[in-house]
Amino acid sequence: MANQQAVTPSAVQDFKASLRGPLLQPSEAGYDDARKIWNGMIDKRPALIACCSGPADVINCVNFARSNNLLVSVRGGGHNIAGNAVCDGGLMINLSGMKSVRVDPARRAARVEPGVTWAEFDRETQAFGLATTGGQISTTGIAGLTLGGGWGYLARQHGLASDNLLSADVVTADGNLLTASATENTDLFWGLRGGGGNFGVVTSFEFQLHKIGTVLAGLVAYPFNKAKDVLGLFRDLTIEAPDQLASGAVLITLPDGTPVIGIPLCYNGPIAEGERVVKPLRTFRPLLIDQIGPMPYTSAQQLIDGFYPSGLHNYWKSSFLKEVSGGVIDTMVSYCAKRPTPMCHGLIEHQLGGAVSRIDRDATAFNFRDVEYSFMSLGQCATPADTESIVRWASDFWKAMQPYSTGGVYVNYLGDEADEGADRIKAAYGPEKYQRLSALKKKYDPTNLFRLNQNIKPV
Ligand SMILES: Cc1cc2nc3c(=O)[nH]c(=O)nc-3n(C[C@H](O)[C@H](O)[C@H](O)COP(=O)(O)OP(=O)(O)OC[C@H]3O[C@@H](n4cnc5c(N)ncnc54)[C@H](O)[C@@H]3O)c2cc1C
Repeated sequence: MANQQAVTPSAVQDFKASLRGPLLQPSEAGYDDARKIWNGMIDKRPALIACCSGPADVINCVNFARSNNLLVSVRGGGHNIAGNAVCDGGLMINLSGMKSVRVDPARRAARVEPGVTWAEFDRETQAFGLATTGGQISTTGIAGLTLGGGWGYLARQHGLASDNLLSADVVTADGNLLTASATENTDLFWGLRGGGGNFGVVTSFEFQLHKIGTVLAGLVAYPFNKAKDVLGLFRDLTIEAPDQLASGAVLITLPDGTPVIGIPLCYNGPIAEGERVVKPLRTFRPLLIDQIGPMPYTSAQQLIDGFYPSGLHNYWKSSFLKEVSGGVIDTMVSYCAKRPTPMCHGLIEHQLGGAVSRIDRDATAFNFRDVEYSFMSLGQCATPADTESIVRWASDFWKAMQPYSTGGVYVNYLGDEADEGADRIKAAYGPEKYQRLSALKKKYDPTNLFRLNQNIKPV
């Protein structure tokens, strides 16, 4: 409750009266639910939680926090692994109730509020046969994902979520609402596309949409003892992959306790052509699961939701990989053979390259257009008693993978700053872009009001 003493009860009452949405304090009903986020390991207690109903509430929150010198956290979908959506003491600006999605089919565009998840976004846009690149777990928020870059099954064909951002309304640290786009506040627009939540609170995102119909998608899985061969197959498939194919390789345990190597994938193109592309996976033996088939895009987007339930303790470490080399394969298999809990897993994603790599590197703040693979060691457990062992396992696994890393890491997969260290935050933006982002931070948030994120320090 560090900063809370400075705020008088009458100031809190006035603030409450200025909001259309509820303002929750620790003793009130709904407070505990509102402070919960996806990662069950995060247990922070804000002094105040403002459940915003619209931009006016957000403006009042920013002005109140700034004038009372309160620590601020901003919650979109609440999926960030570091738990930056919640703060200890201070004010949590909770946007999760701001859920409107307005699709303009003629312009193939959607205007979306920041509390929307990808399941909600896809549901509305697919009613018109449209979609844009979104995360692969449908409960993830559109807000944090887009601000950090945002990849998913459509990225290799249509670019990142942030590459499809047409404009954003942002409440900056001075309490002004600005529109950022290719023609307005263009420096801010550049920074929002990969620079995370550093520059203000986004109250509305406008996305470019694309025609997306039935896709060929599903999960194939093989026994764990075939993991080295399957990772080799995955490498060969991804080296040759057309832009229409996005996939991952995951060393995971099925709900019945069977350890497997699985490949979730989505091919967005003619089904017969997709069948030909993924044939090597379907003919490899022994094959335990083959769920690949034509399906609605919304189903593909929920394919592996079951492996990522809300409330587990999660500790993740990540890096970009140069390639899927023999060393990568051996290290993945060796660490995944000694997982401390069945939910722990290792993952390589192949969602980059293709269209992402053809966009000018300087066009947006997202820095990694020349890499194709992202690695993650995902420590997961259901009971707090196992937390220490999952943290140790995920850290050791990640360290063992460092010889194969590019040195870079995805902003949205970073843990909190105290754990990762300042150098890793810089590595997530790249040294040159970090400097430019720092100058932008000074312009839009000189006192670092928005610092609970992958924080860029103002210079
Ligand atoms: C299970 C799981 C699956 C994932 N899959 C993918 C994936 O497929 N592709 C991918 O790219 N990423 C993926 N991610 C990472 C994801 O992009 C990040 O966790 C992202 O931060 C989630 O955004 P959120 O709005 O849900 O999170 P939150 O925790 O609410 O916010 C994340 C960060 O963004 C800031 N923020 C949120 N909303 C706003 C806003 N409106 N204005 C300003 N700042 C804001 C917050 O302050 C915080 O720092 C996944 C994460 C998880 C846990």
